[in-house]
Amino acid sequence: MRKPIIAGNWKMNGSRSSIKELLDGVKAGMGDVKSAEVAVCAPAIYLADVSEQLSGSDVAWGGQNLSTEASGAFTGEISADMLLDFNSKFVIVGHSERRTLYGETDELVAEKFEVARKAGLTPILCIGESLEERESGVTNDVCGRQINAVIERSGVEALADGVIAYEPIWAIGTGKTATPEMAQETHASIRKMIAEKDAAVADKVRIQYGGSMNAGNAAELLAMEDIDGGLIGGASLKAEDFLAICKAAG
Ligand code: PEP
Repeated sequence: MRKPIIAGNWKMNGSRSSIKELLDGVKAGMGDVKSAEVAVCAPAIYLADVSEQLSGSDVAWGGQNLSTEASGAFTGEISADMLLDFNSKFVIVGHSERRTLYGETDELVAEKFEVARKAGLTPILCIGESLEERESGVTNDVCGRQINAVIERSGVEALADGVIAYEPIWAIGTGKTATPEMAQETHASIRKMIAEKDAAVADKVRIQYGGSMNAGNAAELLAMEDIDGGLIGGASLKAEDFLAICKAAG
């Protein structure tokens, strides 16, 4: 049985006071979350606050990006060790916003995955197709290409040390969600592609769905066999909504 994992991706949102209020609310409701693993991926500048507020709670935390470099003259970058210095457990790699807005390639994302994993962080590897790619029927090719970049660099076993987030780009922040059946179909294809290389890894690796998951649609998405949780953007910014999703996961 794969333990479901719900992770909030706050993106570039929040302030010290709004984060305090949000985390107070999340912590207060965690007693009703029975089995899901819960985490928040915060803007790096707030990780000190987040780690202070979440230490000793059942909510883990992490970053939204990391550098492939360990240290040095890389202005504006954040290393794996810096994330670990604040006891981060997770780091998102290859979010579609980083791929499309900041030109991150499959190869760079694979390198970030490897750097994170080797440092002891759990990388959340985001993959997913654009609307144009979905409409031209190449969703599985795109997801396969994005995952294969990681497999080619680190080997298929490495996937088991991370989490995959299938996020159709057309569903992110748009209010358009993949139907549970549509999401399940792609999740099952992703798992099958991995199983062709290693059945045990495919069985173990958790595949989250991301893309406008909210309090209203989470339960039916999370009920699907191959959907092992969610990566939540907008709905992770409100304690009540985020908790409802965590509770729907079990
Ligand atoms: C995301 O940013 O990973 C995401 C899924 O965003 P939203 O839930 O807002 O669509």
